[in-house]
Amino acid sequence: MAQSLFIMHSMHVVMTIEGVSSDSSDISPQEFDVVIIGAGPAGLAAGIYAKRAGLNCIILEKGVPGGQVLTSPMIENYPGFPEIEGMKLMDIMAEHARRYVDIREGEDVLRVRSGERFQLSTTSSKYISRALILATGATHRKLGAPGENKLAGRGVSYCATCDGFFYKTKEVVVIGGGNTALTDALYLHSIDCKVTLIHRRGSFRADKHLQDSIAERKIQVLFDTVVDEILGENGVTSVKLRDLKTGVTQEMVVSGVFVAIGEVPSSQLASELGLNQDPGGFI
Ligand SMILES: Cc1cc2nc3c(=O)[nH]c(=O)nc-3n(C[C@H](O)[C@H](O)[C@H](O)COP(=O)(O)OP(=O)(O)OC[C@H]3O[C@@H](n4cnc5c(N)ncnc54)[C@H](O)[C@@H]3O)c2cc1C
Repeated sequence: MAQSLFIMHSMHVVMTIEGVSSDSSDISPQEFDVVIIGAGPAGLAAGIYAKRAGLNCIILEKGVPGGQVLTSPMIENYPGFPEIEGMKLMDIMAEHARRYVDIREGEDVLRVRSGERFQLSTTSSKYISRALILATGATHRKLGAPGENKLAGRGVSYCATCDGFFYKTKEVVVIGGGNTALTDALYLHSIDCKVTLIHRRGSFRADKHLQDSIAERKIQVLFDTVVDEILGENGVTSVKLRDLKTGVTQEMVVSGVFVAIGEVPSSQLASELGLNQDPGGFI
């Protein structure tokens, strides 16, 4: 039977490929009609639909179900939930999906091969499937500044909801100018962190209502400014800032650096399957 490959981002199927050449496997993998890779919102929705359509289906997730939404302090744009914490929303979504479909947590899909059917190798098992749904989403983009890698987890964070608690009453910077950066800044401010928002451009690209909230709460903002270096030995002690308009540099004493500058697609498996991607790695 011809195989089908679907690439999903959130609720939308954006591509289908059928009929790739055949191959074989030398061990006894588990067989499914559909294997879904990723248990973010897209993968969970796909699982519900596939099972309800009578397909023998499974979801493989390298971490825990929920995807990027788990790191969102508050979701305000999901219909039916005017205001809900990201973690709570994904608990509800995962619970809903589990009524139908088995979600195998902690199974990182390491390798995918196309053939008469798809063959998958994970950290703990092997699978064969007639159809494959890639719902691998994206992950946070790194700043690339000296000190970032050394101090990751020791003052440098990519998840305000996960780590913000440790910085109550302390000075922190949030780097970025989109919805995530502004939401993070508002969240950190709400739990009593002393927040400065650093953005390399002269204006935010975030939603207007978030910009209004930043202004209402009088959160300090440094526009046209970049972080050249993150300093500290066992933990972050300061950041080196540079004003892009004047070239003036300054060192700001902080305990926490929250990086929120966008995402990079998790499209390694798509590359392995030979799917076309743009220069940013998006399918
Ligand atoms: C801080 C933050 C706040 C946000 N706030 C909002 C908001 O308020 N409203 C909104 O609409 N959107 C928001 N978003 C965006 C939203 O989270 C994403 O659009 C959504 O999560 C995309 O869902 P997805 O299922 O496509 O991918 P993801 O959520 O990225 O899920 C992909 C899943 O695939 C898994 N995976 C990846 N590779 C493998 C592999 N090889 N093997 C097994 N599993 C794998 C990952 O572990 C992950 O669980 C926010 C994002 C962030 C980071």
